[in-house]
Amino acid sequence: MNGSSQGIRQADLQEMTMQQQAPSGYDLFQPTEEAALLRQTVRQFVEREVEPQAARHEREERFNRELFRRLGELGLLGITVPEDWGGAGMDAVAAVIAHEEITASDPGLGLSYLAHSMLFVNNFFHNSNQTQREKYLEKVLSGEWVAGMCMSEPEGGTDIQAMRSTAVKSGGNYILNGRKMWVTNGCLDDHNPGDVFLVYARTGAKISTFVVDRTMEGFSLGQKIRDKAGMRSSPTAELVFSDCRVPAENLLGAEGESLIHMMRNLELERLTLAAMALGIARRCLDEMNRYAGQRTAFGQPINQFGQIQRHIGESYAEFSAGRCLVYDVARRLRLEQPGMRLETDAAKLYTATMAKNVADRAIQVLGGYGYVGEYSVERLWRAAKLLEIGGGTMEAHQKNITRDLSRNPRFFR
Ligand SMILES: Cc1cc2nc3c(=O)[nH]c(=O)nc-3n(C[C@H](O)[C@H](O)[C@H](O)COP(=O)(O)OP(=O)(O)OC[C@H]3O[C@@H](n4cnc5c(N)ncnc54)[C@H](O)[C@@H]3O)c2cc1C
Repeated sequence: MNGSSQGIRQADLQEMTMQQQAPSGYDLFQPTEEAALLRQTVRQFVEREVEPQAARHEREERFNRELFRRLGELGLLGITVPEDWGGAGMDAVAAVIAHEEITASDPGLGLSYLAHSMLFVNNFFHNSNQTQREKYLEKVLSGEWVAGMCMSEPEGGTDIQAMRSTAVKSGGNYILNGRKMWVTNGCLDDHNPGDVFLVYARTGAKISTFVVDRTMEGFSLGQKIRDKAGMRSSPTAELVFSDCRVPAENLLGAEGESLIHMMRNLELERLTLAAMALGIARRCLDEMNRYAGQRTAFGQPINQFGQIQRHIGESYAEFSAGRCLVYDVARRLRLEQPGMRLETDAAKLYTATMAKNVADRAIQVLGGYGYVGEYSVERLWRAAKLLEIGGGTMEAHQKNITRDLSRNPRFFR
């Protein structure tokens, strides 16, 4: 071809490519000065205050209430809430940065942070009215109250339509009955429930969302769930609603709107869970790389052995691929506007298993030392498994991706 009118001209292609390229010097992982500063601030906070307590709280299965309040002081609990409402007014990239950094040290704290700031705060903010915001927002942004979200039930999590909890209108209240399982931040300790929750319940054929707080009659802690494989510094509980009287003004949006609320929030939830996976993988990579340079066997550092190089090399490549995927999706995600379901499902599907595999290789590289607590990789390995289950199982992501692709078979552009 000689640049004829039928063919695409090389010069046109070059020009098109240049137009599509990000400006030179663009950093996908901290695209603005604000994002870079956020990463630096959270990283310093993590080094000074999170890392020293992480292993102990995990071992003791204890939520660090004071440290959680510090997240509020740093403005992290309302990271996606506009400044007019007391939040940090930041975007999805910022949310990803905060989750990656915290989880690289303490996945349990990362999970509690996610349940509070994403599952509760972000969802509540986008679907609440002025009165509801005035009543609850300050308490949850400061960290005075610990919040969470109650969707899963003892009989099922993936199948939302099988939900059994009900809410029936009676005068100025809804009477809420049901049990919610696996609620992150559901309790603060063995005896006290968390402070406020978004609770999904059936109102007739459809599902509605309620804001339920600990002052409401008929709301109690069923049990603190102990002995989790990992994420033990994040409290998980079963909550019980027994003729719980929820004022009608605590209905979020209109009756039957829960699916809209879930859809609006789910993309950011999945993306930040994927960011947690990045944190776990990055820390494990860091640990195995350092250890393999120091540990010697047969007269040389073990990073001279091809099989160890394979563990490190593959981990780095997979982590890098996952990181690019997550930050690219974050860059394109608009908080107010759903439309990235396929991409966020893919980000979580890929990074959850990637993190588990990288953590597994880290243990292998550290040998016996990897299998005990001192180097943290076994704690991160146990934590990584949750990301294949919570916030959507791997099978659910596979199903969603296939459904979305089948509706749009020409998605490759
Ligand atoms: C530590 C922890 C914290 C959590 N935090 C919260 C929280 O804060 N709030 C909350 O609401 N929930 C929370 N969860 C619950 C979590 O989201 C659920 O465990 C998850 O959605 C799966 O639900 P399930 O456990 O009932 O499994 P099930 O839905 O019973 O699934 C069991 C298995 O069947 C598979 N399966 C189900 N349906 C299909 C299908 N159609 N096709 C193929 N396979 C299928 C699943 O993928 C899985 O492998 C948490 C869970 C844990 C462990």
